[in-house]
Amino acid sequence: MSDWDESTLQRDIKTEGHAPTYTKLYNATYNPRVSYHYNPDVSKYHYGVRHPMKPFRLMLTDQLVISYKLHEQMDLYYPRRATKDELTAFHSEDYVDFLRQVTPDNSSKYLEALREFNIGDDCPVFDGMYDYSSIYAGALLDATRKLISGTSDIAINWSGGLHHAKRTMPSGFCYVNDIVLSILNLLRVHPRVLYIDIDIHHGDGVQEAFYTTDRVMTVSFHKYNGEFFPGTGNFDEIGVKKGKHYSVNVPLRDGIDDDSYIRLFKSVMEPLITSFQPSVIVQQCGADSLGGDRLGCFNLNIKAHAECVKFVKSFGLPMLVLGGGGYTPRNVSRLWCYETSVITDVQLEGKQVPSSVPFRSYFAKENYLLHPYLGERIDNKNTKKYLESVRIQILEQLRFLNGAPSVSMSEIPPDIGGITEEEEQALRELNEEMEVNKNRSEGGVRQLWDEKDEARKGELVD
Ligand SMILES: [Zn+2]
Repeated sequence: MSDWDESTLQRDIKTEGHAPTYTKLYNATYNPRVSYHYNPDVSKYHYGVRHPMKPFRLMLTDQLVISYKLHEQMDLYYPRRATKDELTAFHSEDYVDFLRQVTPDNSSKYLEALREFNIGDDCPVFDGMYDYSSIYAGALLDATRKLISGTSDIAINWSGGLHHAKRTMPSGFCYVNDIVLSILNLLRVHPRVLYIDIDIHHGDGVQEAFYTTDRVMTVSFHKYNGEFFPGTGNFDEIGVKKGKHYSVNVPLRDGIDDDSYIRLFKSVMEPLITSFQPSVIVQQCGADSLGGDRLGCFNLNIKAHAECVKFVKSFGLPMLVLGGGGYTPRNVSRLWCYETSVITDVQLEGKQVPSSVPFRSYFAKENYLLHPYLGERIDNKNTKKYLESVRIQILEQLRFLNGAPSVSMSEIPPDIGGITEEEEQALRELNEEMEVNKNRSEGGVRQLWDEKDEARKGELVD
């Protein structure tokens, strides 16, 4: 043995392909059925060269998930797009029509509407904007149906979680609020829904939609100073009327680190879950709360972010797990792949991402590590004293909750989980329309791809 040099014992590429990529962890108490909802078309859209939102981060995530063979541990679904009827369950018809009709070519005809619907730099008109929105919303509705029917215990949709969109306008890169649509469906069956948001931005769109009800508790952890987008999310936003005390906000300052975040998250969520007794949990896992995010300013590492998912999962309730923000694509994909492993109860093998990942060069900057160190880049402005005051303030709010509100449930509508004839027809029309759009923009495809390549290059250097 001692005569062999190092290289004798190294794996060649072929052997590497057969090497285990994960170890299944033994869990004696809870083995949920996990489903994964992903329509790869969602990653092909492009907001614009300089726009920080890069849908191709979803492709990178999916590639990592597949390369680690995590698909073996989940039921995979290729979801259909959401229909117009499904979108108007929350959004106004005018707004949805506008999204369907306006394109970069004809937008000059819609100047008044562009103003009315708040279209601008953050939410530009881009090719396929409506198709993109209906695809990610469709993925979450599919996940929601599987959860409602009991086919799945934890359903994952990394393409969803666009929490800023309002009923009549887009906001913060979000055109359609898939989360609100999903929760509206859950409420047909579930008495109480808990929404948890760990994106660095306040989950304002979801909070606003359910501000007056006690059947949905929204909890958002985010940076707050009154100016940071979207400018809302202070302690005093607690809900109104029946919903009073059911909106919970955890305003944080720059640079929070792993330990403080996890400690605060657990110390707040434990009593909230115990007291509210949700029958289902929706967790938005925005990746812009990681250290090194292009738009974020926290110091969280991947394992700390994932610890929040692990903790919520440990309550053993049905869960929807969603993406959200995240503007350094290689970190977004590492995070959501790792969180997929946490949900499926496996331990990923090796320190580096598998050699079979197609766009592996994206991870070269940090030597292909799955867990590069992302902490200590920003001064931590959250003193112990401040965090303690945050904790006390939230627990104080909890005292006003009178346990879990009871709800008289009407019967489950018979069409739940199915698709009506009108929806079927609408879907056919949408698909035809999508074909037409695709053919029309064919001429500009080459230029679009060049622009995309340019933008991707930018991602590697920041
Ligand atoms: Zn965000």
